[in-house]
Amino acid sequence: MSVFNRLLVTGLPLVPKAVVHRFAKRYVAGETLEHAVATVRELNGLGAMATLDVLGEEVSEAERAREFTEECVRVLEAIDREGVDSNLSIKPTMFGLEIDEGLCHENVERIVGRAKELGNFVRIDMEDATTTDATLRIYRDLHARYGNVGCVLQAYMRRTLDDVGALPAEDVNVRLCKGIYIEPRPIAWKGYETVRHNYVAALEKLIARGVYVAIATHDEYLACAAEALIDRYGLAPDRYEFQMLLGVDEELRDLLIARGHRMRIYTPYGREWYAYSMRRLRENPEIAGHVARAALGRG
Ligand SMILES: Cc1cc2nc3c(=O)[nH]c(=O)nc-3n(C[C@H](O)[C@H](O)[C@H](O)COP(=O)(O)OP(=O)(O)OC[C@H]3O[C@@H](n4cnc5c(N)ncnc54)[C@H](O)[C@@H]3O)c2cc1C
Repeated sequence: MSVFNRLLVTGLPLVPKAVVHRFAKRYVAGETLEHAVATVRELNGLGAMATLDVLGEEVSEAERAREFTEECVRVLEAIDREGVDSNLSIKPTMFGLEIDEGLCHENVERIVGRAKELGNFVRIDMEDATTTDATLRIYRDLHARYGNVGCVLQAYMRRTLDDVGALPAEDVNVRLCKGIYIEPRPIAWKGYETVRHNYVAALEKLIARGVYVAIATHDEYLACAAEALIDRYGLAPDRYEFQMLLGVDEELRDLLIARGHRMRIYTPYGREWYAYSMRRLRENPEIAGHVARAALGRG
């Protein structure tokens, strides 16, 4: 990132919320479940599946964690009622992981159990490294008892190849991403090319183990490497999927769909759109630049 772009990104929090909203809309399906379902329907029309995400993280009150749990149950029921092609992604800290692991486990179990009744699937996102062990514990237990649940592994973590080795033996569904949190070097690979290298190594290990893998990336290099592995292992199109975030590189999305790959779009919605959008904008200095110019009245 250039020094100029770095300055723009640092200044983002000073930009009025209304201006951020104008540019952030592309990353978020709206504030309500109705908006979210409408976006999923549009994506389905483009040949993509979706995974819905209720925005909100790091809940510190048990009551709030329960409210989010019930909101996720409503999402699963809306997907079923509206007949759209989507599953659900959830973040453990939203269901009380930072309050008590047992509380989080209970809430996530309620969601996974309801999804099972409705024939749907729940993906437990991976957050920062302080949550990895607890998240994998909850995942392993619910996977053994319900089955319709998947986890996420992050290629920047040094432990990831070991985590692939420790996955359950059967019916495993893993999303592989680079990882978005800032982790210390003793536990995380730091070089851009190093993370790519570990991504490809982990992807190959997952495929070789027969895991259904969700290849979550916008990095064309990784999409290309994934296609080579899919070809080398002769994977049928129903044994993997690509995943991308709503609003990011729609051209690559459409190219991959046109090449016959299953594609799932991570579709966040909810009132807490601001923090999520700021994270996306920080990752994309070009758009951050437009935001800054708009804020200065030159947009
Ligand atoms: C479906 C999905 C689920 C994810 N779930 C998790 C999770 O559970 N835990 C976790 O830690 N991380 C998660 N991530 C985030 C992920 O770890 C990366 O931080 C993020 O995807 C960027 O990595 P990349 O592979 O796209 O490569 P990058 O090298 O970051 O990006 C590749 C290209 O895409 C462009 N690009 C990337 N992001 C944006 C953007 N916001 N707007 C416009 N262009 C962009 C870049 O400019 C670059 O040209 C998820 C990502 C996806 C796609």
